[in-house]
Amino acid sequence: MSQRVIIIGAGPGGLATAMRLAAKGYDVDLFEAEDRVGGRMRGFEDGSYAFDTGPTILQLPRVYEELFAESGLRLKDYIRFKRLEPNTRLRFWDDTQLDLTSNIAAFKAQLAQLRPDLPAAFERWYVEHFRKDVVGYKPYLGTPVRPVLGYLRFDELMAALPFRPWESLYDHYWRFFQDERLVYGLSYPAKYLGMHPTVCSSIFSLVSFLEFEYGIWQPEGGFRALAQAFARAAEDLGTRIHLNRPVRQIWIDGGRARGVEMADGERIAADAVIVNADFGYALQNLIPKQARGHYTDAKLQHMQFSCSTFMLYLGVDRRYEGLPHHQLYLSDHIRRHERPWVDDSALDETNPSFYVCNPTLIDPGNAPEGHSTLFVLAPIPNASYHVDWAAKQQSYRDLIIKRMALLGFDDVERHIVSETCYTAETWRDDYRTYQGAVFNLGHNWNQLGPLRPPIRSDAAQQLYWIGGAVHPGSGLLTILEAARSAAFFVGQDVPLTSMSMVTAG
Ligand SMILES: Cc1cc2nc3c(=O)[nH]c(=O)nc-3n(C[C@H](O)[C@H](O)[C@H](O)COP(=O)(O)OP(=O)(O)OC[C@H]3O[C@@H](n4cnc5c(N)ncnc54)[C@H](O)[C@@H]3O)c2cc1C
Repeated sequence: MSQRVIIIGAGPGGLATAMRLAAKGYDVDLFEAEDRVGGRMRGFEDGSYAFDTGPTILQLPRVYEELFAESGLRLKDYIRFKRLEPNTRLRFWDDTQLDLTSNIAAFKAQLAQLRPDLPAAFERWYVEHFRKDVVGYKPYLGTPVRPVLGYLRFDELMAALPFRPWESLYDHYWRFFQDERLVYGLSYPAKYLGMHPTVCSSIFSLVSFLEFEYGIWQPEGGFRALAQAFARAAEDLGTRIHLNRPVRQIWIDGGRARGVEMADGERIAADAVIVNADFGYALQNLIPKQARGHYTDAKLQHMQFSCSTFMLYLGVDRRYEGLPHHQLYLSDHIRRHERPWVDDSALDETNPSFYVCNPTLIDPGNAPEGHSTLFVLAPIPNASYHVDWAAKQQSYRDLIIKRMALLGFDDVERHIVSETCYTAETWRDDYRTYQGAVFNLGHNWNQLGPLRPPIRSDAAQQLYWIGGAVHPGSGLLTILEAARSAAFFVGQDVPLTSMSMVTAG
């Protein structure tokens, strides 16, 4: 008999960990509360329209290829990715438009229109980031987290110091460009780390570089197809995925995870339990009090969680040809450096920044002929700030629909056939996300690396966490890296018998 692992949740982190462990020879059962896999990425259909719900930006396809290859599979047998051009179109408060693109010559030509010295400044930034990628990616993102003191290695520190990791993203970009359009345009990925550029470490400028250097990609069939691809691969490797099977509680005894207790009271034993359910939600709902360690309710309240997102998923009876896949409107309000602008602690009802994805041009199967779907996102306070959505939802929706014209989506209201709206409360209640903080824990200095919750629980043995709350962070790319670490820790703590390795091999 092989060692049995139970995974709670079929989000990207749970599925990727299932693939890795099943490929090694573990006997994996994955329990998912909902009727489909994918977590925040699960998507939904409304009539003949199909929508992605969460991620729309796929970076570094090599991380996906590695996940499949290291599990003994080929990514292309499960899903294919298409590269986007441009990566993202930005429109600024002053009506400037800038296409972020991996065609560096074309990007520099746009910069020259803004100010003649900017192309050379960008060249310096780009060259520096080739080195930052080498020095930063593998030791900090691509390997299991070390204890704090483990980061005090002379050679690594000497290599990292020239990149001034103590600087904020704002200061970093200002030092290179002295132009706020570039400062905020290049630091837009900070938003999906739950951070304003003035409080986010400059180490995250690496994300923008990775997008320039390796592009942004779209899975064929959307991100809901990517979730299905992970699930098919996990099943092909032997994982049993149980849908509509909510776990009620993790069964912990004698300081060790023993298995799970299901909603119907059944207890299922395992040698290791991996929690992919959202960190804050799971602490409050799935972990017995004595096994929460120092993550008490009081501690949770002091941790910094990301913003939430207001979402409109629209099916419209027309196509928006010529408008790029990803577009972002950056309002003047992003330039304010005080609350509520830096921490999204109040709803911006006058001039919010927002994002629109126009996926049907590259993924025509998601809407009837001549129609399209649109994915509209505006950052909003998470549920801890108690916005009265019953009172505000309609007016906020009207505001966002009106503002879509700023990105070239004219006359949207007249063309809407299908409409679904999410607020922070939807993410909290329907997706079991603590405070509806969709990008999970913020990436402040005190919540980075070894200061994030550990993958290998320090409150109970043979209990592990996988997902956006743990190191290295809250996006798909980082969660897939974390899955590698989770499988590594399980391998150390619950080694396979030689018999199960022979079977898997
Ligand atoms: C609007 C939005 C846009 C985003 N954009 C991007 C992007 O462009 N690029 C990017 O990289 N990332 C993006 N993200 C972030 C990314 O989607 C998340 O980081 C990722 O989905 C989190 O994955 P996860 O594995 O932590 O788990 P989740 O996706 O949260 O999945 C957790 C799973 O656990 C299940 N579960 C919970 N409780 C139980 C229980 N008791 N029993 C059984 N199952 C349970 C849930 O149903 C769910 O399926 C975005 C997120 C959102 C919401």
